[in-house]
Amino acid sequence: MSRCTHAVFNQSTPFVDVNLFTTHCALADALSFNYAGFDAARFAGLGAEMGSAEMQRHARLANTFTPQLRTHDRYGHRVDQVDFHPSYHALLAAALRHRLHGAPWSAGTGGHVERAAAFMLFTECEPSVLCPVSMSYAVMPALRANAAIYAEWAAGLASDRYDQRFLPFQEKTGLTMGMGMTEKQGGSDVRAITSRADIDGEDAWGRRYRITGHKWFFSAPMCDAFLVLAQTPGGLSCLFLPRILPDGTVNTIAIQRLKHKLGNHANASSEVEFDAACAWLVGDEGRGVPQILAMGALTRLDCALGTAGLMRHALSLALHHTAQRQAFGRSLADQPVMKNVLADLALESEAATALALRLARAVDHSENGQDASGHETLCRRLLTPIAKFWICKRGSLFAQEAMESLGGNGYVEEQGEGVMARIYREMPLNSIWEGAGNIMVLDLLRALRAPGMASALEYEISPVRRAHPALERTFATTLQAIDGLREEAQARCLARDLALLLQAALLRQHASDAVFDAFCASRFEAAADVFGLLPAGVDLDAIITRAMPVQMA
Ligand SMILES: Cc1cc2nc3c(=O)[nH]c(=O)nc-3n(C[C@H](O)[C@H](O)[C@H](O)COP(=O)(O)OP(=O)(O)OC[C@H]3O[C@@H](n4cnc5c(N)ncnc54)[C@H](O)[C@@H]3O)c2cc1C
Repeated sequence: MSRCTHAVFNQSTPFVDVNLFTTHCALADALSFNYAGFDAARFAGLGAEMGSAEMQRHARLANTFTPQLRTHDRYGHRVDQVDFHPSYHALLAAALRHRLHGAPWSAGTGGHVERAAAFMLFTECEPSVLCPVSMSYAVMPALRANAAIYAEWAAGLASDRYDQRFLPFQEKTGLTMGMGMTEKQGGSDVRAITSRADIDGEDAWGRRYRITGHKWFFSAPMCDAFLVLAQTPGGLSCLFLPRILPDGTVNTIAIQRLKHKLGNHANASSEVEFDAACAWLVGDEGRGVPQILAMGALTRLDCALGTAGLMRHALSLALHHTAQRQAFGRSLADQPVMKNVLADLALESEAATALALRLARAVDHSENGQDASGHETLCRRLLTPIAKFWICKRGSLFAQEAMESLGGNGYVEEQGEGVMARIYREMPLNSIWEGAGNIMVLDLLRALRAPGMASALEYEISPVRRAHPALERTFATTLQAIDGLREEAQARCLARDLALLLQAALLRQHASDAVFDAFCASRFEAAADVFGLLPAGVDLDAIITRAMPVQMA
C-alpha cells in the first residue's frame, strides 16, 4: 500500500542564513545618519551570525527547553538556582561577546549608537536573553552613585566574557545585574513598596542594610546583583543587593517560583523573598526613585530598540514567505492588497528603527561630552517616553498583521519552529515592563515642562516643516496641546502625534522619498486603524524592494 497520500509543495523555506544587517537598508541608513563612523565590517559579521541557522537553532531550543527552578537540594537545604538549556548560555555569551551590556560606557563616541543597532539585530535572533543584558547595560550610570561598589564591579559588568558560575564576584570573569522594584501591591506606583531595609552598619561599600520583604517580579534571578527599592528610615531608597556576599556567603534571597509567562520563555522571571538580605545604599536615603530611574530610563530605550528589532524580524518573515507562496495564480507578494499590507508594515518598521536609533544618539551625545548646548539631553528626556510608548504600542498590532500574512502557519509554533508565533507572544512585554503605556505618557507630560523643551522639539521637527499639509496641521494642533498640558486624558493623543512628527522628520532625513511620502500620506491624513490602508498613488513596489531581505547564496 502506498503511504504517499500527497506531495508537500508551495510552502516557504526556513528564513535562515540571511545576513540580517547587509539586507537591512533602513537600519544601515539610520545607523550612518546617527553615527557615520560605525564599523560596517563588525555589523556585517554580526548580521551574518544572528541570521545563521545555528543561532536560530539556539533561539528555538532556549525557548522550548525553558528555565527550571531548583529551590532546595535533596537534603532540604535551600539552593535557589535556575537551570538553563545550553542554548540559553550560548546566546547570552554571544550577547556579551558583542558588547551589548556594560561595555559601551567606556567605548567613546558612537558607542551607544552602535550598541543600540547591535541590540536590534540581536533581537531578531532572540529577545528574551537580552533582559539581563539590558539591565547590565542600564545599571552603570545609577551604580556610579556608590563609588566603592562601582570601582569593584564596573569592569566585570563591561567584560565581554560570560561567566555563568554561581561564585562571589571577585572570582568571576564577567558579571550581570538585574533590578527589583515591583511588588504585589504596586508596580507603577512604587511608593506602595513595603520591603523594609534596616540599617546594619557601615563598611567599605558604605551604609549596609538588612532587607525584609519581597519582589513580585524579579527577572533573571541568576544575575550577580540587583538594584532594588526598599523603605529605609529616610524613605524609599535604592540598594545594591548581591546574590553572594563579598565574604562568599550566599545572600538570603529565596526564589519562590518562576512566572509562567505568555512569552519571553527563555528568560527566567521569578518571585523572591528577602529574609534580612544584605544590601548597600546607592545614592541618598529617600531618593530611591530618581536613583533607580537612571537605570529605568535606559531599559526603556532598550524596549524601543527591542520592539523595532522584533518588527523587522516579523516583517522579514512576512516578506520572505509571501514572495514564495502562490495563491490565485501568483505569489502573495504580488497580490495588490498584500502589497499594501507589506509596504505599510515596512513603513512602520523603518519609522520605529529611525526613532529608536535617534534616541540612542541622544544618549550617546549626552554621555560622551558632545552636548554643549544641552539639546541632546533634552532630546533624550523627551524621546524616551515617546519612543517607549509609541513603538511598543505599535508592536503588537504589527506582529498580528505580519502573522496573518503567513496564514495558518503563522499561528503554529511546532516545537518552537514557528518563529512568528514567538514574536507575537513577545511583543506586548516591551509595552508593559519598565513603565506601561500610561506611565510613559504621564512621564511625557512631565518632560514637556522642562525649560527649553518646546524649542528643542521644534528644532527636531524643523526638517519636515511645510513638507506636507496634513503634517503641518498635526504640528499646529500638537503645539496647542503642549501649551494646554492640563488634559491628562489626552496624553496618549499627544504622545502619538509627537511620535509621528518625529518619525516623519527622521524619515525625511535618511529614508527614501517613497517611504517618506507614503508615511506622510498615511499617518497624518487619517487614523491608522489597521495596516494596509496606504492610499492610492503610494509607490508600494519601491517601499517593498527597499525592505526585502535576501537570503545568502
Ligand atoms: C515578564 C515580566 C518581567 C518583569 N521583570 C521585572 C523585574 O525584573 N523587575 C521589576 O521590578 N519588575 C519587573 N516586571 C514588572 C513590570 O515592570 C510591572 O508589571 C509594570 O511596571 C506594571 O506594574 P504592575 O504590574 O504593578 O501594574 P500596575 O502598576 O497596577 O498598572 C496596571 C495598569 O495601570 C496603568 N496605570 C498605573 N498608574 C496609572 C495612572 N496614574 N494613570 C493611568 N494609568 C495608570 C498602567 O499603565 C498599567 O497599564 C516584570 C513584568 C513582566 C511581565
